[in-house]
Amino acid sequence: MVVIGAGALGLSTALHCALAGRSVVVTERHTAGSQASGRAAGLFKSVQADEVRTGLARRSIARASTFADWAGVPLAVARSGSFLVARTGRHREFLCRELAQSRRWGADVREATPAQLAGQPGYYQPGGDTFALWCPEDIYIEEPASLIQACLAACRRHGAVVSEHERVTGIPVTAGRVAGVETERRSIAAPAVVDAAGGWVRQVAGLAGARVPVAPVRHQLLITEPIAQVDPAGPITRVVDAAVYLRPARGGLMVGGFEADPLPVDPERQPDSFGTDDVPLDLGVLRRLADQVAAEVPVAATAAVTEHRGGMFTMSPDGRFVAGPVPDLPGLWVASGCNGSGFSSSLAIGEALAAWITGGAPPPGVTALAPGRFGSLPDDALITRGLWQYAHYYDPAPA
Ligand SMILES: Cc1cc2nc3c(=O)[nH]c(=O)nc-3n(C[C@H](O)[C@H](O)[C@H](O)COP(=O)(O)OP(=O)(O)OC[C@H]3O[C@@H](n4cnc5c(N)ncnc54)[C@H](O)[C@@H]3O)c2cc1C
Repeated sequence: MVVIGAGALGLSTALHCALAGRSVVVTERHTAGSQASGRAAGLFKSVQADEVRTGLARRSIARASTFADWAGVPLAVARSGSFLVARTGRHREFLCRELAQSRRWGADVREATPAQLAGQPGYYQPGGDTFALWCPEDIYIEEPASLIQACLAACRRHGAVVSEHERVTGIPVTAGRVAGVETERRSIAAPAVVDAAGGWVRQVAGLAGARVPVAPVRHQLLITEPIAQVDPAGPITRVVDAAVYLRPARGGLMVGGFEADPLPVDPERQPDSFGTDDVPLDLGVLRRLADQVAAEVPVAATAAVTEHRGGMFTMSPDGRFVAGPVPDLPGLWVASGCNGSGFSSSLAIGEALAAWITGGAPPPGVTALAPGRFGSLPDDALITRGLWQYAHYYDPAPA
């Protein structure tokens, strides 16, 4: 089989298919992890909006934490835990609902005491009216490249071939089913092709005349210079009413967030060479988000910035992944619709997709992610709903 794209989703799918005994070739246009996956904040979040995503998120945390045991390659994770913080009555109610439902779905989530929130992150000083949850299961990966390198090494160890600088230019269809791929260099025959092309997933599916229901949207983060009050072993903090996340990074603080008026990015309307480095960055967006937590985390707004990076999320209309077979085109599969959680859920999505491809039946719950579930939703609705999901990353519609 062929996997198109060596980001986190493609590599994980390839690795799990190789572990299941399949012969796998991954073709990557640039280098592995050079696009969205290499820009990720590396955050894993056990609290999710529905049971399927909760299961995938928790499975991924377990798989990342035990990577060496099943993949045979070491992977360092920071078992930091995380706080979810609400400073408004509406968001407090929202977190109370998340607490109840996440527990029902098996996640270890607890109400945090004010003393715990005041003491633990170090960099966050809560005001009087703060409500917080403590999520001890949550982890992060300090540098996203380490997950990519671990997956690459594991792919090689288990026989999957990863071919970089090899762009897929065609997906031939014979007698109504996908027959393999054409690349700049060769033809590869394969009974199954997985489109894991990230922000380019729609163009790649278009090579076979198929459509993937996602809208790419910009996301950005920054890392500050080293700051004395940031404990490198401290937890992640997510301030849900401000849609801001914070974590220790390289001795400083990582600050990212979700603006209410995000920027859609359409690679289809860009030159062929368009890559993640061409996504326009705007530090002003992050400054405005940091200002919203300046009372609790002054350094988020004042410390010098040592890195500002960004890339594309692939947003879906319901905020769920898009993973499974493309309708009416046997042999073509999709691993996409990351909705900003594709890095952290990649190990579970790849595992589930590989089980579906190699076993012939979807694992429980995964049909909820099927690419055909939106019918023929027009592109403007895809974008409008995708932007809504982005802006409501921390307070999505109830399940
Ligand atoms: C700033 C930022 C922070 C983020 N933080 C987090 C986080 O904390 N947690 C989280 O879970 N997620 C996070 N995300 C989202 C996460 O990065 C994505 O969900 C994830 O990386 C998607 O992986 P992917 O494999 O689909 O995409 P990509 O990593 O973009 O990989 C797709 C690959 O396909 C290749 N490709 C495209 N077209 C072709 C072609 N024709 N032929 C061959 N190859 C092709 C591309 O070159 C690319 O390497 C963040 C994203 C950004 C931008």
